[in-house]
Amino acid sequence: MGCPLSRDFRTLSLWHETTPDAWTPRPALPGDREADVAIVGAGFTGLWTALYLARADPSLRIAVLEAETAGFGASGRNGGWCSALFPSSLESLAKRSSRADALALHAAMRHSVDEVMEAAAAEDIDAHIAKGGTVSLARTDPQLARARSEVDHARRWGRGEDELRLLDAHEASAVLAGTHLRGATYTPDCAAIHPGRLVRGLADAVVRRGVALYEQTPATAIAPGRVVTRNGTVRAERVIRATEGYTRTLDGQRRRLVPVYSLIIATEPLPEAVWEQIGLRRRETFSDHRHLIIYGQRTADDRLVFGGRGAPYHFGSRIRPAYDRDEGVFALLHSALIDLFPVLRDVTVTHAWGGALGIARDWTASVGLDPTTGLGWAGGYVGDGVSTTNLAGRTLADLVLGRDTELTRLPWVGHHSRSWEPEPLRWLGINVGLHAMAWADREEARTGRESRIAKLVSPLIG
Ligand SMILES: Cc1cc2nc3c(=O)[nH]c(=O)nc-3n(C[C@H](O)[C@H](O)[C@H](O)COP(=O)(O)OP(=O)(O)OC[C@H]3O[C@@H](n4cnc5c(N)ncnc54)[C@H](O)[C@@H]3O)c2cc1C
Repeated sequence: MGCPLSRDFRTLSLWHETTPDAWTPRPALPGDREADVAIVGAGFTGLWTALYLARADPSLRIAVLEAETAGFGASGRNGGWCSALFPSSLESLAKRSSRADALALHAAMRHSVDEVMEAAAAEDIDAHIAKGGTVSLARTDPQLARARSEVDHARRWGRGEDELRLLDAHEASAVLAGTHLRGATYTPDCAAIHPGRLVRGLADAVVRRGVALYEQTPATAIAPGRVVTRNGTVRAERVIRATEGYTRTLDGQRRRLVPVYSLIIATEPLPEAVWEQIGLRRRETFSDHRHLIIYGQRTADDRLVFGGRGAPYHFGSRIRPAYDRDEGVFALLHSALIDLFPVLRDVTVTHAWGGALGIARDWTASVGLDPTTGLGWAGGYVGDGVSTTNLAGRTLADLVLGRDTELTRLPWVGHHSRSWEPEPLRWLGINVGLHAMAWADREEARTGRESRIAKLVSPLIG
């Protein structure tokens, strides 16, 4: 029997509300325990890691400790893009390793999209997955120039038309009929998913395989050989940190990853006549080439889910339930949506929510396990964690089992970013960067010329 609900998790997002699940937390840690592997955090990172470990060695004693309930964090709230995007450029990956290693990571990310689909099918999880690719619109001259240079960049890295291609305005509008279209880029490497269904399905799958999942059990500290919680200590040879945007809640980890909020709105289910005007027939995910990211998907029940950054970074890396909502940002998202698709002017927005994602100081995700301390981690995915967590989970499973594989040799393994600056520098730098990106987009929309501001400030935030 689960614990009494401390809050109604179903109100957190559209995904929480529409997952066929009561979101009743499983029992908390009942006291001191021993395990072979202890994982802190039951989002995609923690659950994929537990799943691949349990599959590889069913005799392992695996304990997952979750502060709230599985899927409470970004994994239950995101935009549902399961993409091959990795939050670091091929150039910077190659600088730290080699061109071949950077491309190997890119190939592993492409494969991860299919692996998520296969693993979901194998575990009997219906996550409403449709692999329609991503269309990124170009709606101004500077956006078109960025679209062209992205394709040129792909070609220089040997990535062909099958991975990324430029669409002219006519081809673009056949996929997604946004206003002011100049063209678009299209990649097939993305699937739209229902993240709530996936994360809850994964939690059930690991429990079925004998993993001990303790919910409503916040860890206060992790150290070699143990995880400390208010309910007791779990002793384990291997301890994995899978807390992403919430990492600052652990002792000594305050400046490792900053929590940055991304916010989302969702419409009521739209009639077929509206979708005939908009497109997304294959449930392609969509974006455009502006600086401050926007992202959208057509859900399996025909809603339009549309999100973006723009919420401020909160001083001291604070995370509060109140920060999940920002009426100003919701209004900006709504007007950006209407600007793209005026046919949606009178459509009702039924849901609006947000969540914290994690960003490392060098904006590079990483995964690793220190064999001397037994401490492992994965995170810093920025907004690209839906598939990257799967790669992290498979990699952590190999590292825990001491296997030397293609995955454990990828160039993000063992990477360490330096810590973020102390406050108030952190607050200043991140918020100046966010404001400048929004300003650059407004200026480009008004003048039709490329803004220099974004380039000037990008070293501050990326
Ligand atoms: C609004 C939004 C939209 C996004 N859209 C996309 C997208 O479309 N595509 C994409 O690829 N990525 C997207 N992302 C990013 C993606 O969701 C994340 O990168 C990914 O879900 C991270 O998974 P995780 O398991 O590492 O972290 P989380 O899902 O955040 O899980 C961490 C878990 O740890 C628990 N926890 C935290 N502290 C403790 C503690 N001290 N003790 C115990 N448990 C603890 C939390 O309660 C939480 O359940 C988005 C993120 C947000 C917020």
